[in-house]
Amino acid sequence: MLSHADVLIIGGGPAGAALALALRGGGLEVMVLEARSDFSAPADPRALALSYGAKILLQRLGVWGGIVGATPIERIHISQRGGFGRALLTASESGVEALGYVVNYAALGTALHQALRLDNPLYLTGATVSGVKSTPGFGVAEFEHGGRQHEVTASLLVLADGGRSLAQVSGVERHVVDYAQSAVLCHVSVERPRPHVAFERFTPFGPLALLPSGTGYDLVWTARTDEAETLLRLDDGAFLASLHERFGDRLGAFTAAGQRASFPLSLKYARPVTAQRMALIGNAAQTMHPVAGQGFNLGLRDAWELGEEIRNAPRAEIGGPAMLKHYREGRRRDTGGSILFTDLLVRLFSNDYAGVSLGRGLGLAALDLLPTAKRLVARKMIFGAKG
Ligand SMILES: Cc1cc2nc3c(=O)[nH]c(=O)nc-3n(C[C@H](O)[C@H](O)[C@H](O)COP(=O)(O)OP(=O)(O)OC[C@H]3O[C@@H](n4cnc5c(N)ncnc54)[C@H](O)[C@@H]3O)c2cc1C
Repeated sequence: MLSHADVLIIGGGPAGAALALALRGGGLEVMVLEARSDFSAPADPRALALSYGAKILLQRLGVWGGIVGATPIERIHISQRGGFGRALLTASESGVEALGYVVNYAALGTALHQALRLDNPLYLTGATVSGVKSTPGFGVAEFEHGGRQHEVTASLLVLADGGRSLAQVSGVERHVVDYAQSAVLCHVSVERPRPHVAFERFTPFGPLALLPSGTGYDLVWTARTDEAETLLRLDDGAFLASLHERFGDRLGAFTAAGQRASFPLSLKYARPVTAQRMALIGNAAQTMHPVAGQGFNLGLRDAWELGEEIRNAPRAEIGGPAMLKHYREGRRRDTGGSILFTDLLVRLFSNDYAGVSLGRGLGLAALDLLPTAKRLVARKMIFGAKG
């Protein structure tokens, strides 16, 4: 087993795998340690709305064609329940072929896993990291693989493990905002589908999104945590009726529901996103509410930009203070903008105050009437705060 790598990526989820693929062909020793070993079962029902910008990056990484079942979003219909005002964002007005694509988390993970398996002999699955530390010259990770404990050093440790090792890293603070909300997810069928149209419906109890997926929709229903637990326990008929009541009649009746799952929702972000010989990407750097569908889109840009920093640095300077500073400062605007935008949406659109509801309605109506504003919002969602 290798004892020293140029770059050691902890976590082969979407962000870690994307970084490893971005470093292919650069002549560096890049090792990836991923705790999971079974990628065959679609264990995670999450639907991800990926922006057109994310598609371009995944094409450059050579994995886009391997993602099974991506459904294009050509229009996004935004409205609020019990209030006036609506906005329609369209791909044609934004000058792109699609505003985004709905992909399943497991399908994305499988495509990335297969690409990594083909190309990276230092990709270990079933490898669980139990300890990370660093000296000025290198980072160290301890991990279990094949029933044995191992230790590996690297010029740069990349934390792409969703933040699970962060407690062991000194000098990085993790901020947490608990929204006391959970997302209930499942695939649903409707009476009158509108292909390639995504719906974002803001309700006083939290936002509800229907993302086109095949001939039906992937539902992301945000609710107070106790309400989400109740929704999980309802039988299919009662669940579909509640959904119809909450969403309205735009798609007719909801006719079938797949298996339901729920995720607790909070905002977690680390400051700074680097430490001695370490860099954070994806959910390890920031975990956001899914209301704006920004999480992985942002995490992918973390991976891409860190990949550029590593490729552009002389080998002896990989993981050094100058490279890490450049990465940290380069990500500040995109990350800060996305966190603020998402947090603002959650706070503005999860309440029933009359004044706020009126303001929301006016905002949506104005957005719909102003093509330049629409293009701006769409471009920020597609390409990030840096545009
Ligand atoms: C309900 C919901 C809906 C969402 N919708 C969207 C959306 O529409 N659009 C969007 O862009 N984003 C969305 N997201 C966010 C998206 O899921 C995340 O941004 C993305 O999964 C982050 O990828 P990651 O690789 O950073 O972390 P993760 O997906 O958490 O992957 C971390 C990886 O690290 C591995 N790991 C963990 N600990 C260890 C260890 N000790 N040793 C080795 N490996 C380890 C794990 O097995 C895993 O594979 C949504 C999230 C939720 C919860």
